[in-house]
Amino acid sequence: MMPHMQRGKPKDPIFAFEQNMPLVIEAVLALEGGEGLNEVCSCEVGRRTTKCGDCCLADLSCEQCFLESHRRNPLHWAFRWNGFYYSKVSQKKLGRIVHLGHKEHPCPQIVIDSTPTNLQIVHTNGVHDIEAYFCRCQNAQPRWKQLIDAGYFPGTLNRPETAFTVSLMKFAHALSTIGHASAMDIATAIRRITNGAFVDEVPVRAICISFKIKHDYNQLHTGFLKELSSCPSGMENSPS
Ligand SMILES: [Zn+2]
Ligand SMILES: [Zn+2]
Ligand SMILES: [Zn+2]
Repeated sequence: MMPHMQRGKPKDPIFAFEQNMPLVIEAVLALEGGEGLNEVCSCEVGRRTTKCGDCCLADLSCEQCFLESHRRNPLHWAFRWNGFYYSKVSQKKLGRIVHLGHKEHPCPQIVIDSTPTNLQIVHTNGVHDIEAYFCRCQNAQPRWKQLIDAGYFPGTLNRPETAFTVSLMKFAHALSTIGHASAMDIATAIRRITNGAFVDEVPVRAICISFKIKHDYNQLHTGFLKELSSCPSGMENSPS
């Protein structure tokens, strides 16, 4: 049972941390555990072995329930119990296939047994290999547009294989303009976040193109502000 928190000088937050650091460490370490490990999942089919590293209040579930609950969050990392520790795995390894052009639903024009496209998506939480089906309907948008509709900015407009989440581009833009981080610094940080133990194993293709992030986002931002300034009331709503 967790002992009561020590109360120090009420207005000194550092003192409070110093006095209660063992409790804080215990609480943080508890996040690494998992209540109900290997118990029967709520679906009553699988066992609770997998939890999300990116959701708040994440519960252990079986792999299928994990995939089901992450249909619209394919870039959350899964942490799967391997008998010794929770091993970080991509959703692709659990069987995730991303469907573009119809929200998370499959395009009706996809031929059964056709091969999905391999994409690399660079996000604030690392580099993800994903398998995706693009919409193939008669009125389908071009691939780059389908990626942008899903929140992924393509590395190229001609048959893109790499894309960057909009949140990553905003974050990289802030780091470079406020913190003066170079594209290399940002790329290295993303590689380290993806795999801190084996940084060199993080795919180079995505990282090379990530040097485009700063340039592309600056251009987008400038273009966006130009659009706003051409609208009489636009600047009132411009982002700060
Ligand atoms: Zn389940
Ligand atoms: Zn999640
Ligand atoms: Zn379609």
